[in-house]
Amino acid sequence: MFSVKEYVKKMYQREVGACSDRELYEALLNMTQEAAKEQESSKGKKKLYYISAEFLIGKLLSNNLINLGLYDQVKKELEEAGKLLTEIEEIEPEPSLGNGGLGRLAACFLDSIATLGLNGDGIGLNYHLGLFKQEFENNLQKETVNPWIEEHSWLTRREVSYPVTFGNLTVHSCLYDIAVTGLHNRTNKLHLFDIDTVDEGIVTEGISFDKEDIEKNLTLFLYPDDSDEKGHLLRIFQQYFMVSNGAQYILDEAVKKGCNLHDLPEYAVIQINDTHPTMVIPELIRLLVQKGIDLDEAIEIVSKTCAYTNHTILAEALEKWPIRYLKKVVPQLVPIIEILDDKVRRKFDDTDLAVIDKNDNVHMAHIDIHYGFSVNGVAYLHTEILKKNELRKFYEIYPEKFNNKTNGITFRRWLLHCNHLLADWITSKIGRGYKEDAMELEKLEALLDDKKALHEVQAIKHENKKILKEYLLRTQGIEIDDHSIFDIQVKRLHEYKRQQMNALYVIHKYLEIKRGKKPGRPITIMFGAKAAPAYVIAKDIIHLILCLEELVNNDPDVSPYMKVVMVENYNVTLAEKLIPACDISEQISLASKEASGTGNMKFMLNGAVTLGTMDGANVEIAELVGRDNIYIFGENSETVIEHYKKGDYCSKDYYEKNAQIKEAVDFIVGPELMKLGQKENLERLYKELLNKDWFMTLLDFEDYVKVKEQAYKDFEDRDVWMRKMLVNISKAGFFSSDRTIEQYNEDIWKLEK
Ligand SMILES: *Cc1c(COP(=O)(O)O)cnc(C)c1O
Repeated sequence: MFSVKEYVKKMYQREVGACSDRELYEALLNMTQEAAKEQESSKGKKKLYYISAEFLIGKLLSNNLINLGLYDQVKKELEEAGKLLTEIEEIEPEPSLGNGGLGRLAACFLDSIATLGLNGDGIGLNYHLGLFKQEFENNLQKETVNPWIEEHSWLTRREVSYPVTFGNLTVHSCLYDIAVTGLHNRTNKLHLFDIDTVDEGIVTEGISFDKEDIEKNLTLFLYPDDSDEKGHLLRIFQQYFMVSNGAQYILDEAVKKGCNLHDLPEYAVIQINDTHPTMVIPELIRLLVQKGIDLDEAIEIVSKTCAYTNHTILAEALEKWPIRYLKKVVPQLVPIIEILDDKVRRKFDDTDLAVIDKNDNVHMAHIDIHYGFSVNGVAYLHTEILKKNELRKFYEIYPEKFNNKTNGITFRRWLLHCNHLLADWITSKIGRGYKEDAMELEKLEALLDDKKALHEVQAIKHENKKILKEYLLRTQGIEIDDHSIFDIQVKRLHEYKRQQMNALYVIHKYLEIKRGKKPGRPITIMFGAKAAPAYVIAKDIIHLILCLEELVNNDPDVSPYMKVVMVENYNVTLAEKLIPACDISEQISLASKEASGTGNMKFMLNGAVTLGTMDGANVEIAELVGRDNIYIFGENSETVIEHYKKGDYCSKDYYEKNAQIKEAVDFIVGPELMKLGQKENLERLYKELLNKDWFMTLLDFEDYVKVKEQAYKDFEDRDVWMRKMLVNISKAGFFSSDRTIEQYNEDIWKLEK
């Protein structure tokens, strides 16, 4: 058996109580890695390769201990020696190998694939500095590096290397694996490719570096600032490096198992997570042809091996690469892409379906759809919009390829690990079956009218609020009132997610309180969000929120009733603290724009009530919990899509018609904020809202204020609110990523179990 005591004795010749937290962390790291090795790895003829530019895995120690069944024992052993696992956990750096939802989804999927005992690994890149670390300075976002790879880490170096050629430069890869433990089941692998010549020393100020020194920068950062051509080119270098290594690895594994490559689809299925790994299609074709397979057959084989997941309908987020970029970086793929385009043009008399458009841009999603066997959206509404609007023409020619896979989250991390109090309570009420079968959470419905049980849930929520309060004070110097309503919006900063609407609400409320209309219970409105370094308006929105935080919290007339908090460097670790403490979950994207969302599911599972639009998976949440247990506002997706089609939305009309809107928008450039903030940023944001407002903030603002006030009011009826909380928890089972992965396997991967 694995005992901390023995590991520590072996490593340091000391007792547990005499070790520092860092020493204990490293001992636990070793122990966990060995325990993972003892678990069977998955097998089977056919294997899934989940290729993704991002895996936002979060810290791994506790999660692995839980999945390996070691958590309780380790916690106890440490406590007996006067040590706290929660403090040791804090030593672990968070790998920042993802931006947000898409990367976190990939991480949840790996957990579920291993838990279900399916034969599937992840393939990605080992970014040394990952995503930038966010700091606030003068109420502005500042980006700095986040070096997460320590001497002892979860990475295990493999004896695997492949050549990857870019024009006249050939690099040789190396490979690191991270063990992916499933709950009481298999250990799979996340394969992260890298090169030894990467040099963190080329970073100058903040996150600036020489974008042209490929040997030193190739796996340095996740998605470097791509506002210029050099940034775009580096992105293509990264993408090709990932897929070329992935393709070589996949073919090697298949051949080792006896595959003759003509039968590749019997040995491998590749899930392409968004368009970033699309070049795996032409690369595999190239490699198969190189191995002597006829071109047409190679295309056929690859088309039966690859499946594509679409994550967005935002036109600006669908990747299109100018063919001249590809000629520079991956000239060997260009003739293949031209052939793929040519085949489409011969078959379909519609240039909208072409791979290469009239401006010589390569549409990556079009490659995936024509040359993959499955196309899936990530929530019911999203898939319907793809079929009816964005990808209608593709749906018409390939109806059989389209399918929906509503996203999910792993309950191991987003309940068992992040909310021990709630998980233990649930276990005490309905047993432990829900850990394997999340639908068993519905058994909690038997307690909906049990006052005592409801009060226990409420006490757990309050305990989690106190834990968050302590954490924010200790780590960020932020003070909050645990008796206030915690109203939380944490997610990447994007105009379509409409943090600006929440900020306008703060202004509205501030002015109301100033005029003497004071809320009965204080509210704490919390934000957490990173903005892409080159996304100007997103950074202006952060600036506005930080200025409001300074204004509101320092105003003695207002701060007893409302506080605004923007946490620095929102990441998985912070999410794990914020979500269990939340009362109201803000999911307020413009209807039709949020493909699914997964934050919404994490909050629901932890007993927060959603305030949201009918968008993404909110639609499915609303259906599951019923209208009494969710706060829905705003225009629906059909209306919004009509506005875009007609081009008839004019934000100024709303501004002029509605005094409440005008007052809030004008405040952005009023004297109070101008004193605290930068004129340039605030004016730019003001003008954007007034003259463009592409994501229709002002369209929904009035209804948002109304429904949000209703939620605050309802919060006071404590018994009724607690019931809403418990309904949300009991209905969250559908959003387990185990369910999602079962569906991927049934409909797409078809792996043996
Ligand atoms: C879940 C998660 C997200 C995704 O949140 P959405 O609200 O779905 O956009 C982003 N970042 C982190 C750190 C997460 O854990």
